[in-house]
Amino acid sequence: MATISENIQQLRGRMGLACEQASRPVHSVTLLVVTKTFPAEDVRAAFQAGEHRFGENYVQEGIDKIAALADIRAQVEWHMIGPLQSNKTRVVAEHFDWVHSVDRLKIAQRLSDQRPAHLPPLQICLQVNISGETSKSGLTPEELPAIAREVAALPHLQLRGLMAIPEPADTLDAQRQPHRALARLLQQLNQDGLALDTLSMGMSADLEAAILEGATLVRVGSAIFGQRPSSAAQAAATAP
Ligand SMILES: *Cc1c(COP(=O)(O)O)cnc(C)c1O
Repeated sequence: MATISENIQQLRGRMGLACEQASRPVHSVTLLVVTKTFPAEDVRAAFQAGEHRFGENYVQEGIDKIAALADIRAQVEWHMIGPLQSNKTRVVAEHFDWVHSVDRLKIAQRLSDQRPAHLPPLQICLQVNISGETSKSGLTPEELPAIAREVAALPHLQLRGLMAIPEPADTLDAQRQPHRALARLLQQLNQDGLALDTLSMGMSADLEAAILEGATLVRVGSAIFGQRPSSAAQAAATAP
């Protein structure tokens, strides 16, 4: 089996090719290494392979890993990318550098209120439900502009851009559509006076499509660490 370092090298190659096809400089796309379900030692291996940005979906799991990797805390960024409930905002505001999954004004207000004064502003992306799936979290494109304006005005946050998790699609063309739609929304917000620089879109299966449509940050887990155990397998493993 390939090592984490080999997988990262291969992934960096994929990102480089996609940038070339999009006529974009390689450094215009940031890699966020998604570490959910994988142990702190795997995160350390990715760090030793040169990666400095890590994304977690579950608050407690993220906090535990941040603690286990306290010795490298000053050299890495921790990004919260999973659904966030209001009773968890305080620990997130205290421990993370970014939150990509803000989809309600109330969550943003709490994060701003709870961000410790000695830390730089928390970096924020608003999550948009770009495929219009009823089950997925995220703001609708219609409600986005008003909320973006309010979030941008909060004192201890810095609104950086938009995030989406499009519905899986098989062809490159089909994958590009929702990414293009998200890029347009960002453009509109900037035309309306905001100064946003981050399009958080693209995962293991669709990062080429995302880069072609202007992604500035791709969030990649399984292409680096291998398949995550399915929830069913996880439940069986922890059953008494
Ligand atoms: C798990 C996850 C990813 C990474 O997905 P892979 O397919 O493993 O690359 C990216 N973004 C979010 C929000 C995730 O939950």
